[in-house]
Amino acid sequence: HMPGDTLNSLDGQQFDVVIIGAGINGASSAQHLAAAGYSVLLADKGDFGSGSTSRSSRLLHCGLRFFETPRPLLDFALAPGKLAVALSMARASMEMRGEIVKDSPERLRKFTMLFPILKHLPYSGWQLDLAFRLLGRYGPRDVPLDYRRLDAREAAALPFIGQLADTAQLASVGAYTEYMFDWPERLCIDAVLDAERMGAVVRNHTHATLGERSDGAWSVHLSGDGTATVHAPIVLNMAGIWIDTVNGAAAASARRLILGTKGSHIVVRLPDAFKDHGMATINSVGEPHYVLPSQGGYHHIGPTETVYEGDLDDIKVDGPDRAFLLGETARILPGLGLTDADIVYTWAGVRPLGFDTAYPKGKRSVEIHDLGGDGLEGVHALTAGPIMTHRSAGREMTQTVARSIAPSRPPKQPDYTPRRFPDNPNSPPLVAGDPRVKLSDLAHAATDEHATTLADILISRTGAIYHTPLSGDHLERAAQAVSVHLGWDEAEVGRQIDETRHRLANIYQMD
Ligand SMILES: Cc1cc2nc3c(=O)[nH]c(=O)nc-3n(C[C@H](O)[C@H](O)[C@H](O)COP(=O)(O)OP(=O)(O)OC[C@H]3O[C@@H](n4cnc5c(N)ncnc54)[C@H](O)[C@@H]3O)c2cc1C
Repeated sequence: HMPGDTLNSLDGQQFDVVIIGAGINGASSAQHLAAAGYSVLLADKGDFGSGSTSRSSRLLHCGLRFFETPRPLLDFALAPGKLAVALSMARASMEMRGEIVKDSPERLRKFTMLFPILKHLPYSGWQLDLAFRLLGRYGPRDVPLDYRRLDAREAAALPFIGQLADTAQLASVGAYTEYMFDWPERLCIDAVLDAERMGAVVRNHTHATLGERSDGAWSVHLSGDGTATVHAPIVLNMAGIWIDTVNGAAAASARRLILGTKGSHIVVRLPDAFKDHGMATINSVGEPHYVLPSQGGYHHIGPTETVYEGDLDDIKVDGPDRAFLLGETARILPGLGLTDADIVYTWAGVRPLGFDTAYPKGKRSVEIHDLGGDGLEGVHALTAGPIMTHRSAGREMTQTVARSIAPSRPPKQPDYTPRRFPDNPNSPPLVAGDPRVKLSDLAHAATDEHATTLADILISRTGAIYHTPLSGDHLERAAQAVSVHLGWDEAEVGRQIDETRHRLANIYQMD
């Protein structure tokens, strides 16, 4: 929308589909629905991608983790249904990996993941070989896993292996090519902008409340830089951990869909030799423990996995999370010698897992819920959708809508090509000597990508906060560079800097 064109202009408008929540899954749904010819309104109460999408471990898993149960052979033999789910999720991961690696390599970082086979763990080398034979069959040949298994002697010189607790326990090491999302928020922005190109109306900083259904259409009340009520026969509740709050506004009796588990990460700097290498293993409570190559040459360590009952709008790493991650890392990799003083920054998120009493730590399989039986006819919600399968989630949400209504417009072709900032060779960089983010990129984010706050620009649009620790001077420079585009006077520039500094301190413990 154009500056000055407030939310009020949407009042009374009719859409085929209103999507509440523009995390990666809401954004992908908007993109695929717009491509199928549906008129779409996509609204997020914060910035696009500012929910769980900005708080993940950022792995584009190859799917191995779906075979990681405490006792793989026994667990799958006792519950063949679990094996079927694991196989289908592993297949979906490998298919998505192939697709995203091919069309969006600049949004990913490639690295070598090491998986040590320790004699006391319930995994043996042949089981790992078997899992990779299966995974290899699911993905395209030109995006290889490069899987190989090294014996303890061959692996000794690799990063992490020499730092393991008890090298006598090391049987062998699996090594394979894995990818990280180089800040997942940006994939979300790309999908939002492509949805808009195909006609979707997209609004960040716009809170949506489900109203009432009459004459076959929902009213949805929007509030942001104005207010509006819009109407649509179908509402997709893509609000992640806030799904139950959204449903609860319209139907007090709607069944609970979400169980949130908190995951924390700590960021440290390891020696140069660890560059482009990560390690995956199992922690003392049988859950995955990763050390992953992060932005800016750092590594991040995590996650934790604890049921979360706290404030959904104030999620951060606490003392026990830090202590747990340091303790596990000291137990597994004592040779790294990490202490609390090595933690550069942190972040935590809450996973929007499915609520099911059979799964005390949440149901991890992706599910689409038709809320027709809960007094919410025409409302559909998605739970437990990871980042890596967001495209298939968007396609499945589109099929769900297609079972109820026909599109009102002709179809279009989605374009998955990552958006690039216009080339501006003469524009100075935000951080001296670091050409990755230029002042002209910040301006473009403000004029063409719906960024309205300094935090929008430095987090989702450019990922600048993850590259280098930003000083007060950097924040000032960034705010001044966009102030003319966003109509900020000196007082507003100061307010934006304070607000960004507060977010960096509160969410990331960056000082
Ligand atoms: C610790 C952790 C580690 C993870 N690791 C990985 C990983 O390595 N790989 C991977 O693929 N996935 C990972 N995930 C999972 C992944 O991050 C999430 O499952 C995914 O981002 C969920 O996306 P979403 O779009 O469904 O929800 P969200 O990103 O949370 O989006 C929901 C949006 O709804 C908005 N909203 C809520 N209420 C309203 C309202 N009333 N009006 C308007 N907007 C509203 C919110 O602001 C939010 O932006 C991890 C998650 C966590 C927490």
